Amino acid sequence: MDFIDLRSDTVTHPTPEMRTAMANAPVGDDVYGEDPTVNQLEAEAAAMFGMEAGLFVTSGTQGNLVALLTHAPRGSEIIAGDKAHIVLYEQAGMAALGGIMPRTLQVQDDGTLLLHEIEAAIREDNEHFPRTKLISIENTQGTVGSVPLSPEYTQQVADLAHRRELKLHIDGARIFNAATAFNVSPAEIIAGADSLTFCLSKGLGAPAGSILLGSKEFIKEAHRNRKILGGGMRQTGVLASAGLIAIQKMTQRLHEDHANAADLAEKLKDVPDVKMLSQHTSFVFFQLEDSAKLSPAEFTTAMRRHNILLSPYPGYERKFRAVLHYWITPERVDAVVAAMKQVLG
Ligand SMILES: *Cc1c(COP(=O)(O)O)cnc(C)c1O
Repeated sequence: MDFIDLRSDTVTHPTPEMRTAMANAPVGDDVYGEDPTVNQLEAEAAAMFGMEAGLFVTSGTQGNLVALLTHAPRGSEIIAGDKAHIVLYEQAGMAALGGIMPRTLQVQDDGTLLLHEIEAAIREDNEHFPRTKLISIENTQGTVGSVPLSPEYTQQVADLAHRRELKLHIDGARIFNAATAFNVSPAEIIAGADSLTFCLSKGLGAPAGSILLGSKEFIKEAHRNRKILGGGMRQTGVLASAGLIAIQKMTQRLHEDHANAADLAEKLKDVPDVKMLSQHTSFVFFQLEDSAKLSPAEFTTAMRRHNILLSPYPGYERKFRAVLHYWITPERVDAVVAAMKQVLG
């Protein structure tokens, strides 16, 4: 059945072009560094972001954990947002496997951490204190609505990090959405960062995988940490071939998702008992008002009967997140709005 699936951009399937590339990909043993397609993906991704080297990893979670293990020794501290994916949604991997302690700062509504709060959270040299090693920011910042952080802000955090002899990591699962939102190149959006992870398998449509980028020295060490985490795979050119199409082509069309998200947000204003909350990049948040004749669960079921998949945002009863991606064409946006009007009217 052909659902209109708005639950996430992770639901996207590989495109027909990806399927063909996957069937024909040249491969080798990547643990020996001999998979030409993986090597090409790592090199092209690094070049796009102006970084020296790249590492293909199984997931964004693995990429972030490899980055943290590589930057921060056991017993050290990192500074991150209290609503960061690495803090909320990664099984406390940094603590469980890395002995790393997160020092969390409040994520602002615009997705930033306040510079003076970062500065104040950096530990002085004192035998009572853990050593601060890293600042991690998230772009786009998912939990506050996939808000993009500007290159100017990122450069300020990088300057602060480097002045205090720290590194800056960006969890850039949706970094191409941020670059698209500011209409700047991938290299510009990560201004000054020392490492970056981004996902191939969300809005970019690849079936699996993420990329970790950094200096040659950093990536050499990261290889060992990927191995510890069981991320050394073999003929992964089959997956990397889809990743190449993701970065070469799918990144070029994200502005369509942003335009469709803006269109959906505008049209939701006319749907009865729906309160529009926010729209940034490809994410639309809305709320079902108490006056709605359906409960959130009934609304979800009714929409499913129209072949539209939506679900309440975890932790919030009446709040819904709709994520736009390449399956959600302008016609489908209209179909969603029409179905909502019918269901709630
Ligand atoms: C999706 C995502 C990740 C990585 O998640 P995986 O499911 O492990 O690929 C990391 N950070 C953010 C902000 C994300 O949205």
